[in-house]
Amino acid sequence: MQNDPLDVRCSDCGKAAQFFEPFRFTCVVRLPDVPEHSHVWGRVVVEELFPEQFKWHQPDCKKPKFLQPGETGEGYRLNERGMVWCKACKTFEAKTISWPEDAYWQWTVKGHKLVARNRDHAEQILGFLQESQRAPNRKPALRGIPTPLLTRRLQDEVSSKVEYALANA
Ligand SMILES: [Zn+2]
Repeated sequence: MQNDPLDVRCSDCGKAAQFFEPFRFTCVVRLPDVPEHSHVWGRVVVEELFPEQFKWHQPDCKKPKFLQPGETGEGYRLNERGMVWCKACKTFEAKTISWPEDAYWQWTVKGHKLVARNRDHAEQILGFLQESQRAPNRKPALRGIPTPLLTRRLQDEVSSKVEYALANA
């Protein structure tokens, strides 16, 4: 489970803001004790990180299930409701986001959309684009890069866009 915060575009100032999931999900076997503000959902311990703003409501399914974008039914949807911290506005508020539409790091090149979770991820993507010898098996974090953007024809354009964004954010 990826627990690092997502970077979203602040709806007030347009700068990068951080989105935090309101719950931490940990496999039961890894925890010696169930922490305070926690619930057990099948084999997963769900910890409420912001219990004043977000209470856990157990989805109506016994086995933990995380819904993908566009998927309906019972389960928990990641990247939707959480706390958003904008350093520029100095606000920390409960919000609902649309992911990946609200992603701060996103580019469209020749109709192909590239999205990074946060600055670290954007840097990883840039590093990969600039490698002269790329490993044939992409790390999971890099599998979301649309293949056409990795071709010799487009990689320079993509790299320069990502590089520019990182330098100017
Ligand atoms: Zn802001």
